[in-house]
Amino acid sequence: MVDEFQPAADENDRASNAEYIHNQDSLERVRALAKPESHPDFDGRHCVECAEVIPGPRLALGKVRCVICQQRLEGSKR
Ligand SMILES: [Zn+2]
Repeated sequence: MVDEFQPAADENDRASNAEYIHNQDSLERVRALAKPESHPDFDGRHCVECAEVIPGPRLALGKVRCVICQQRLEGSKR
């Protein structure tokens, strides 16, 4: 059956692929702007304070602490 061939699916693949690359690109830009934090104990995924997994959006910003530890840190700094 020739009907089973769907060129539209291929187009969708291309579109999402291009979108993915674009997202990666802007992610890099956001990262550069936000000045990623660094920490000798940071493994790229877990909070350096409590070892809780850091949510993706926070990781994208270069954060090395979870929200709770970040708030605690900023609260104690004052
Ligand atoms: Zn934490």
